[in-house]
Amino acid sequence: MNSYTKDDIKVIWKPRLCIHSGNCARGLPSVFKPREKPWVDTDGASKEDIIRQVGECPSGALSVEKTE
Ligand code: SF4
Repeated sequence: MNSYTKDDIKVIWKPRLCIHSGNCARGLPSVFKPREKPWVDTDGASKEDIIRQVGECPSGALSVEKTE
């Protein structure tokens, strides 16, 4: 499990659940960059946009947790 912090949230990615549909990279390419390391750049969009895109992940590999 990998996590990436943004303001008061954490984006969680569970690689074993990822089916590589590409929804995240197509929907928000400024944040989800499969060719880069780390591949999630939480500076690339607002918290709201990130949360919305995480909700489009079909496998549940991406999720969001509150840190506070
Ligand atoms: S949307 Fe979810 S399942 Fe698809 S590539 Fe991104 S993390 Fe993986």
